[in-house]
Amino acid sequence: MRYISTRNNTIQYSASQAITQGLAKDGGLLTPFYIPKLPGKALEDLMAMAYQQRAVYVMKHYLEEFSVKELTDYTNAAYGPDKFDSPAVAPVRTVNENTHSLELWHGPTCAFKDMALQMLPHLLSASLVKTEEEKTACILVATSGDTGKGALEGFKNVPRTKILVFYPKDGVSQVQELQMVTQEGNNVGVAAVVGNFDDAQTGVKKLFSNEKVCRELQRRGYFFSSANSINWGRVLPQIVYYISAYCDLIRDEKITQGQAVNVCVPTGNFGNILAAYYAREMGLPIDQLICASNSNNVLTEFLREGVYDRNRTFYNTISPSMDILISSNLERLLYSLTQDPAEVKHYMARLAEVGRYQVSDRVKGKLQKRFRGYCCGEPETRQIIRSMYEKHGYLIDTHTAVAFSALEQYRAETGDETPAIVASTASPFKFAGSVLEALGETRVAPGLDALDQLTAKTGQPAPAPLASLRDKQIRFTQVVEKERMVDAVLSMLE
Ligand SMILES: *Cc1c(COP(=O)(O)O)cnc(C)c1O
Repeated sequence: MRYISTRNNTIQYSASQAITQGLAKDGGLLTPFYIPKLPGKALEDLMAMAYQQRAVYVMKHYLEEFSVKELTDYTNAAYGPDKFDSPAVAPVRTVNENTHSLELWHGPTCAFKDMALQMLPHLLSASLVKTEEEKTACILVATSGDTGKGALEGFKNVPRTKILVFYPKDGVSQVQELQMVTQEGNNVGVAAVVGNFDDAQTGVKKLFSNEKVCRELQRRGYFFSSANSINWGRVLPQIVYYISAYCDLIRDEKITQGQAVNVCVPTGNFGNILAAYYAREMGLPIDQLICASNSNNVLTEFLREGVYDRNRTFYNTISPSMDILISSNLERLLYSLTQDPAEVKHYMARLAEVGRYQVSDRVKGKLQKRFRGYCCGEPETRQIIRSMYEKHGYLIDTHTAVAFSALEQYRAETGDETPAIVASTASPFKFAGSVLEALGETRVAPGLDALDQLTAKTGQPAPAPLASLRDKQIRFTQVVEKERMVDAVLSMLE
């Protein structure tokens, strides 16, 4: 498989180049030249396999340079019992006869980012060898919470990598902050930035393009790399779990082979739902892709009107990992629908210049054939958490709740009762405070005490990685001004 940029498809890259580089030099996203089809009896073969083997089978289609042995080693390490508290890795829980929740949060940080960030470090360090890169990768991450911790856990102690995470001082939850500042590992660094997520993100972007800093890094034997969700090495592992979920549903006789399903995904940067789209392109019988947004509903409008407009109020919500106005991975979908890098480049230039673009009628038609957009506000999010718990005994987090609301809206509007797979993206304990409020608690305990309160209320235990935070040593206390992020980087790379 060769890879191309979404803004120029004449230059081709190998998979290892795409993963090492992260982003194309022209600013486009590195993307497979075509989406391979699963062979006719793939689903039957996959059904008999464990998740780790399914991952090898699916990813091999995109990674010719990697042997089956290599990929098997990676998936065993990434999705082993020491990392995931469910042997199924991404178990499917049936809520009612045509609604199934794909739980993507059984990994070390209790959010779906683990599904990709446990895999990416293996792909990246092997790619460094394959591309004969001799320097050490310094991975810089700006995070609003889940990505930072996921990346730290994935990259800790991985040879020839260093990872440095910047988070906004007052922009993450207490649990999220504790998860990061107690991070173990000999190649990790964490610093708080005075400011909001945008300040941290802009600071990281500036570092990447600061030539003086890049030269200094080179002198010290390093280069900057990214674990951002635009890296192909993060999208690819996510295709696996949709195929895996479908296999589980056939195996458990919830659907018959070939039967169409809908997929509903709580969306921020468009990485997770894009993976579902690619699974469909590979031949998985997915009918509609339901894109769920919170009050930051730029994608809902885009899917309905064909107009992407980031010039709007930004809301801080109780589903913070979806508080995003620029969904970077949408660029890959635009490429897939147009097959025309010039057209993609035009839209992205408009987005950069005026913050808005309108797709052609042709693209809009294609979008609407496959995607549906719904959004939901804070009261609806809370109400769904409550009704899911009361009606089905199923405790869900705030992000997953947005998806269940979208599915409900879709079904009410269309009457389409096709079996649906809902991506459940975080453990309810990760957002225990908001979940407790949604369940009607008026006094929520601060910090980690909220975990015990949620256990007392529901009888469900907190996942071990969150419960054990209490006993962890705080290792990082550095707070930097956004102008001084460079000092934090250089002092870590001495
Ligand atoms: C990152 C994240 C999302 C959004 O996923 P995208 O791939 O960015 O669309 C949703 N829910 C949770 C809990 C997340 O951490």
